[in-house]
Amino acid sequence: MKACAKCKIEKDIDQYEKNRAKKDGYQDRCRECRQADRKARYAALTPYQKSLETMSRAMVGRGKIKEGSYARVENRIGNSKQVSEYLDRYFKGAITDLLAEGKTPSVDRVDDKGHYEHGNVRVVDRSVNSSLGKGHVTVKARYGLQMMARFDDGRTCLFHSKVDASKGIGVERKTITEAIAKRNGRIASKGCTIEIYEG
Ligand SMILES: [Zn+2]
Repeated sequence: MKACAKCKIEKDIDQYEKNRAKKDGYQDRCRECRQADRKARYAALTPYQKSLETMSRAMVGRGKIKEGSYARVENRIGNSKQVSEYLDRYFKGAITDLLAEGKTPSVDRVDDKGHYEHGNVRVVDRSVNSSLGKGHVTVKARYGLQMMARFDDGRTCLFHSKVDASKGIGVERKTITEAIAKRNGRIASKGCTIEIYEG
């Protein structure tokens, strides 16, 4: 048991995230408090700052994926702070313009076969980015389930939710659900196969 530095409630140690930098190896604030603080911090950001954060998280997240073909895409810009600074430095105009048009800025690679590195990164409208063949939707690890869409022409894209997959592939969510139910389900109309990984 450990008392949370914020809510002061004594909680089991599994209610704290690990942090090797701390003396006892765990965070000072409990999971619940840290989550609440993260939410409050995010809510206080401007739309531009939120956009930077979402994009840098997505990019760093993609760099970490080890399984499947998408893993070969490396993020060579840096950690989330460095990515955020990079986007702010080179894409401020593009991000600001997209936001002004009511669109959602999203990071994309200029050359799909290349890595996320200087010269191969661009910021585009997410609805364009996630259309068929461009599977770069925002990655959210919510379900502990990963879906790899493998297209007939060899392209692959990884999704972490049915919503992202349906947007990315351009089919209804129920089509994704059916494909998942079959495990390695094939979506003939879109020329792709959905493979499931337990994340
Ligand atoms: Zn707490």
